[in-house]
Amino acid sequence: MTAPRTPLSQLEQGIPFEQRHIGPDEGSRAKMLAQVGYGSLDELTAAAVPDVIKNADALDLPGARTEAEVLAELRELADRNQVLAPMIGLGYHGTFTPPVILRNVMENPAWYTAYTPYQPEISQGRLEALLNFQTMVADLTGLPTSGASLLDEGTAAAEAMALSRRVGKKKNGLFLVDADALPQTVAVIETRAEPTGVEVVVADLSQGIPAEIAGREINGVLIQYPGASGAVRDIKLLIDQAHELGAVVTVAADLLALTLLTSPGELGADIAVGTTQRFGVPMGFGGPHAGYMAVREQFARNLPGRLVGVSQDADGNKAYRLALQTREQHIRREKATSNICTAQVLLAVMAGMYAVYHGPDGLKGIAERTHRYADILAAGLRAGGVEIVNDAWFDTVTARVEGRAAQVVEAARDRGVNLRLVDADHVSAACDETTGRAQLEAVWAAFGVEGDVEALDGTAADGLPGGLLRTDVYLTHPVFHQHRSETAMLRYLRRLSDRDYALDRGMIPLGSCTMKLNATTEMEPVTWPEFGALHPFAPAEQAEGYLSLIRELEERLAEVTGYDKVSLQPNAGSQGELAGLLAVRGYHRANGDLDRTVCLIPSSAHGTNAASAVMAGMKVVVVKTADDGEIDVDDLRAKIEKHRDELSVLMITYPSTHGVFEEHVADICAQVHEAGGQVYVDGANLNALVGLAKPGHFGGDVSHLNLHKTFCIPHGGGGPGVGPVAVRSHLAPYLPNHPLQPAAGPETGVGPVSAAPFGSAGILPISWAYVRLMGGEGLKRATQVAVLAANYVAKRLEPHYPVLYTGPGGLVAHECIIDLRPLTKATGVTVDDVAKRLIDYGFHAPTMSFPVAGTLMIEPTESEDLAELDRFVEAMIAIRAEIEKVGSGEWPAEDNPLRNAPHTAGTLAGEWTHAYERETAVFPGGVSMPDKYWPPVRRIDQAFGDRNLVCSCPPLDAYDN
Ligand SMILES: *Cc1c(COP(=O)(O)O)cnc(C)c1O
Repeated sequence: MTAPRTPLSQLEQGIPFEQRHIGPDEGSRAKMLAQVGYGSLDELTAAAVPDVIKNADALDLPGARTEAEVLAELRELADRNQVLAPMIGLGYHGTFTPPVILRNVMENPAWYTAYTPYQPEISQGRLEALLNFQTMVADLTGLPTSGASLLDEGTAAAEAMALSRRVGKKKNGLFLVDADALPQTVAVIETRAEPTGVEVVVADLSQGIPAEIAGREINGVLIQYPGASGAVRDIKLLIDQAHELGAVVTVAADLLALTLLTSPGELGADIAVGTTQRFGVPMGFGGPHAGYMAVREQFARNLPGRLVGVSQDADGNKAYRLALQTREQHIRREKATSNICTAQVLLAVMAGMYAVYHGPDGLKGIAERTHRYADILAAGLRAGGVEIVNDAWFDTVTARVEGRAAQVVEAARDRGVNLRLVDADHVSAACDETTGRAQLEAVWAAFGVEGDVEALDGTAADGLPGGLLRTDVYLTHPVFHQHRSETAMLRYLRRLSDRDYALDRGMIPLGSCTMKLNATTEMEPVTWPEFGALHPFAPAEQAEGYLSLIRELEERLAEVTGYDKVSLQPNAGSQGELAGLLAVRGYHRANGDLDRTVCLIPSSAHGTNAASAVMAGMKVVVVKTADDGEIDVDDLRAKIEKHRDELSVLMITYPSTHGVFEEHVADICAQVHEAGGQVYVDGANLNALVGLAKPGHFGGDVSHLNLHKTFCIPHGGGGPGVGPVAVRSHLAPYLPNHPLQPAAGPETGVGPVSAAPFGSAGILPISWAYVRLMGGEGLKRATQVAVLAANYVAKRLEPHYPVLYTGPGGLVAHECIIDLRPLTKATGVTVDDVAKRLIDYGFHAPTMSFPVAGTLMIEPTESEDLAELDRFVEAMIAIRAEIEKVGSGEWPAEDNPLRNAPHTAGTLAGEWTHAYERETAVFPGGVSMPDKYWPPVRRIDQAFGDRNLVCSCPPLDAYDN
């Protein structure tokens, strides 16, 4: 007798990844289904999802693979990329990420799984890190107010153009761009200028503003410092001339160069923009990296994107939070300063920490070394008879080689170095932190000259103009001086991340943002050099692995969404919206429909929708929401009628921002099409649709997805993100493209919306891996469990809190909104009180007051297991009982654990005068003493910080806590 044997083929499969990704196991799902009243996942989603939109067939995707298999496949792809010394320049440079930052920030879930710091009490660590970033940028640029990151240098420059428009004296004047600006920056500016009617003029500004332009109205001027060619010019006179003409002046500056060169602020610039990539952030074939913008004080209230400021908590202790949010899209909508929502927090944290670790002297040392290599490189070329075109440079040397440029670039490539082919006669070589003697020798050899580094070191002339040397001090704050040993740095990083609540601690039940698992297998390849160290403008044959991965991901996302073509270039959802709306605009214009400029947007839409529509040159018309939370169909019909001839597009979110599968979505789409409009389906809620329904099939013409929501790219504390735009074939000719990479989009495209051809390419392996690990069936099951979890939470909370909206079968989609307003009315306890009290219970709050004021939106996702779901539900039920005690008068309205939440460890010290016990404050029902999360500050006074705006590191004595 032999025991029955499991076939090897089955044993080899091990535990499917699906079981790692999806929290509730079979047994848990059965319990949850019983609570919701359905027999199986299929029955549940058959009832929840309207028939008219359901997929007819299973997703046509390759079957699931194990983690080991997927890592092996990624390794093969990585091996098809070639990493050469990156001397192409153009705003992307080799950098050495200090391993203490690589491992403890970039590869550390305590940092990368955090959410945007809208709940500042549990975000003090990343807010401090962002304040370091802002201080670093403000100091180096010499301009006092820096934002907490923009998406990249090109878009930051485009935002500067928009800012100039808002604040400038010559509102309708042209925008003048330095001919020596980075070519991708010029292209992004042109993409963004066209729909808003701004005229962009590119001109050689090396001798000042040419007379024929100076005679015209100029709204703004953008100067690159140092230039793309490497040239370092004294731009003081140019800035003065621009000011005399009434223009706003933006300087796009390299932060490493600014450690040696006079700052833009000192030279008189109004705005500085750029990238912080070379501060320890891998190039990643184009991104993600943190762009920056710093401005003069009087423009602070016009800054695009997020800004961290200092305020105080309920005890008067210093505390950080996001400042001046009334500028932003989520409040100002079509009047916002920009459409930016997700930015580049994780990368800004890294760049800021690079400055913390190196300090001003260390940064200056890196800059001097980089510069010295350039000096020696130039001297060697000159000694060999090669003409160098610029008199002054920081890190980039441009050589003139009559007709030989391609040959030199080719010869350098053979020696393992990528140079920039400027044109048939010019080659540039950019030095960076990773440059070494071997690269200089390779470059010389490629030019056919011989140099001797040692000999030239003594004689090479300094390429920096003496008159521009920086004389002021910078980065004087103690934070840039205290963490130089690795031990100190390690502990600083740990101290900050310990202050924060991220997914590595517990559930983040945020509606609309899908805070699901970011699996380690998905994350690992991101920091492999074959993905991390590629320059975005490396020749295609060196990026075969990347290009395959990109193509496959595009195709698979097209299959999931039912669209024909996908572009991965947009580096956030907001940028995907802009790209999608530009495609709609391009389509109408190609049809001669120049007047189709009205964008219908439901009142419940995400703020980015309205802000993006304005950037795409559209006029926003708001459609009402009916009492049941669905689009008010009568109002929609009336608005379509009214704007029939000017209707461009309807932007809807599906499932709606109310977390409901609207039944008449197909009718709505048909009505819009009938009137000649297009339908934009905001795909942020795709986690409710994958495998069940396809927006491209139920009426959408275009969608953006958020790979940092549905497809497992971590939120990073507020970025990075990827916001692919997906379109049906008639819009495909108007997708983004890129001047430096023909493979990035159609020739007929609208131009780039990101600086890099494939946007944040460096994090695409995450989503690629997720799709590969799950397979079509797994993806569908994830959606089904997400819907189950939301309905489970809704059903369990319903006896205690009203669930605001439901769809077919009384079911919600992947999230639910609970209504606090009746309780607030009866007891005075607000959504804020509940959100902050959840911190005492060890949770991140749900989304507050979006899309309906006075409510909480909960999205549990498929990744939370039943134990965690129950822990959350029970905390909410316990909080409900606490509200009752306030309502009944047992606890005073002004002194109860809800109003005083969150409670810090510090609140326990000293005399206790509250109307409730210490234990109730910090160890309410179910909170484990050893595992307690202690918030570092008490509730933060938002208004105080906006009245007293401080956006750089406060002096150390300002800390009493
Ligand atoms: C998150 C979100 C967006 C914006 O995406 P970002 O990546 O943050 O720019 C747009 N619409 C909805 C419904 C969202 O939830």
